[in-house]
Amino acid sequence: LSFVSKPTDLRDEVIKDMAKNKRGDELTHAILMQFEQINAIDYFPIRSVQELLIKQAQFELNRGRLGYPREFYRFSPSSSDKCEREMFYKNAKAPMDEQTMYPFQRRWTRNSTAVHEATQRQILESEVLLKDPAFKVQRLDSGLPAWEKNLEDWKLVTHNGVQFVVTGMMDGILEYKDGSSIGFEFKTKSNSVADIKRLKEPAPSHRQQCVAYSVLFGINEFVIVYESVAKDKWSTGPEARDDMKAFYVKVTQADRNRLLDKWARVVENLQDGEVSAPDYSKCTFCPFKTHCGEVNK
Ligand code: SF4
Repeated sequence: LSFVSKPTDLRDEVIKDMAKNKRGDELTHAILMQFEQINAIDYFPIRSVQELLIKQAQFELNRGRLGYPREFYRFSPSSSDKCEREMFYKNAKAPMDEQTMYPFQRRWTRNSTAVHEATQRQILESEVLLKDPAFKVQRLDSGLPAWEKNLEDWKLVTHNGVQFVVTGMMDGILEYKDGSSIGFEFKTKSNSVADIKRLKEPAPSHRQQCVAYSVLFGINEFVIVYESVAKDKWSTGPEARDDMKAFYVKVTQADRNRLLDKWARVVENLQDGEVSAPDYSKCTFCPFKTHCGEVNK
């Protein structure tokens, strides 16, 4: 009896993982270095960047409604990790619970939004101020940066015999120095700078968001950058704890299929009237808790 050794699927997977990690390390290091470098210099607002952002504001003021066909059920990237039943209720326009928001929570989201905008602007500024920045923001045919409302789009998808619309926008499509298109997703943490050290991988919902962007915008590689709005003490100087971390996400066809299967299941349920399966691990932020409890008494 003799054994012939040949590479197994597992070995192929390991090799693929190693290659992915190398690429991931390269991209995550490059994006963090870019933010380090731009924040290592003092500079005044840059006229060309300001003009571009004014054009963006004018576009946002004047743009009409997104012209997707209203007769289809609709899904968005930011909700792609949600419970299927919540997606069902949203599309079925079920009654939502009243949400209470306290002023400090509004300041919380206000601060996160402001950091978000400032971070995007710094990528544009680094195009002007840094020598050979690793990343640039892709420009659309309109000349506007490929992000937010400028980029907002919709797609009619046919999958498993049903049709639905996917709509959304993203934080940015960047061009890496090797010419590849990299999706940029930016997330803030607000509790403590220690949150950054504790992050070992992107949140599943953030990873799933990338899968949805991949369906909508046709890109497969992403960097998700997390920044803590809370910083270490000013006096810590060079010893300050890291306030940013980046992760690389490579989306595969299998990832896209799993998400498309999920959306298609919800559409089938909406068509035949059978309420979608619940996922009780995702109830915390669900606005349909009362309705869900009532219809299942
Ligand atoms: S309450 Fe929980 S199970 Fe019910 S729809 Fe919302 S997330 Fe799903």
